[in-house]
Amino acid sequence: MSNAENFTDLGLDPRLSTILDHQGISEPTEIQARAVPTAITGHDLIASSKTGSGKTLAYLLPTMQRLMRQKALSKKDPRALILAPTRELAKQVYAQLRSLISGTTYKAALVLGGENFNDQAKALAKNPHVVVATPGRLVNHLDERSLFLDGLELLILDEADRMLDLGFTEQLNRINQTASHRLRQTLMFSATLEHAAVNSMAKTLLKAPKRIAIGAANAEHADIEKRFYLTDHLDHKQALLERILETETYQQVIIFTATRPDTERLSQLLSAKGLKTAALSGDMSQTDRNKIMDSFSRGQQQVLITTDVASRGLDLLQVSLVINFDMPKQAEEYVHRIGRTGRAGAKGVAVSLVGPKDWDAFRRVESFLQQSVNFSELDGLKGKFKGIKDAPAAKAKPEKTLVARRPKRVVKAPQDRKNRRQANREIVSDDGMAPLKKKKTD
Ligand code: AMP
Repeated sequence: MSNAENFTDLGLDPRLSTILDHQGISEPTEIQARAVPTAITGHDLIASSKTGSGKTLAYLLPTMQRLMRQKALSKKDPRALILAPTRELAKQVYAQLRSLISGTTYKAALVLGGENFNDQAKALAKNPHVVVATPGRLVNHLDERSLFLDGLELLILDEADRMLDLGFTEQLNRINQTASHRLRQTLMFSATLEHAAVNSMAKTLLKAPKRIAIGAANAEHADIEKRFYLTDHLDHKQALLERILETETYQQVIIFTATRPDTERLSQLLSAKGLKTAALSGDMSQTDRNKIMDSFSRGQQQVLITTDVASRGLDLLQVSLVINFDMPKQAEEYVHRIGRTGRAGAKGVAVSLVGPKDWDAFRRVESFLQQSVNFSELDGLKGKFKGIKDAPAAKAKPEKTLVARRPKRVVKAPQDRKNRRQANREIVSDDGMAPLKKKKTD
């Protein structure tokens, strides 16, 4: 895990090491070993670290140490504010925080969009020491004056890249200005530091930060076996999916699809096969999402089918298999999806089904991972699709192991990438079927 033998070696208060010991956590992970000593000395910090690497404790432990060892600037305002992009991640962080403060007199509050505002205002009126929040709702509380941040000592941004991608820039600026105490310390965590908006936000928020880059987002997840299958069309994908679910050994599996109708359709299909299945999508009410996540994390279903709504922040140790039924649009999303397995040293398998419609996304993932991919095959389920060869005018790319096939339609101006893309799309329908097959619109 890391060179530090234990948490007290990192300068952590022995009372905190004892709490961790009781949770069976005795050896710091690499991000903890590097971030904790820097953060407890009061430095601002920008850190990258891969999913499942223990980054939550890397900032919660310094937060706790501050509460325990330093005098508060204000008796009323929260001392620390942790911002997360999604409700799921915020809840996960809050749960870890609660397990650290249980048995102490410290108080924490959770402030999420989609949940009762007045209940949150009441919880904030009890002057919690730490607030965990999603940015939009937090700003609502500032507007309604149910929260003040003048006394804030520590501002933490978890998955800053994702917050910015989701359009929270304005809210982050507002929070930054409201909590502008000159003694404020700020810690920023991001899946990647190679992100223009993250760097520009870091310039606004951080003072002379230390920079820690661990396991870049595209680094190999050593504990996750990545497998890719080429697929011809939707029926072929379904057949592969069913075979994989029959033959793989797993406790729980998450299947990612591109659209909500696919989520529902697959859920019905797999339920009909006798698998205990739950489907989660972004347009559900928060109460329904909570119910589904709670019952899945308690092991009441084997299969969770979802769109990217669940790809971040879920800490589900039972999930040993992740299936990309459709490839994610953004390469970094792939890393987050597969990061749902192989948590904290557990082994995991990540299977991706790559049809003609997924090809561009697959190529982005391949170059992001900086690995060339050998496709796997299943007996009796070998497809015809062999990938789409880059047109000659495309930027020079390293040799691929793929046997690539040029699209049948001749493109007159191969140097025109837009035309070429368009042409490639025309030879397959939206669901990856051969020509003439129309996408289902249910
Ligand atoms: P995170 O990357 O913060 O989401 O953490 C992933 C999982 O690793 C969580 O279940 C943590 O409880 C667990 N974890 C964090 N730090 C350690 C550690 N030092 N030793 C063992 N497990 C840990």
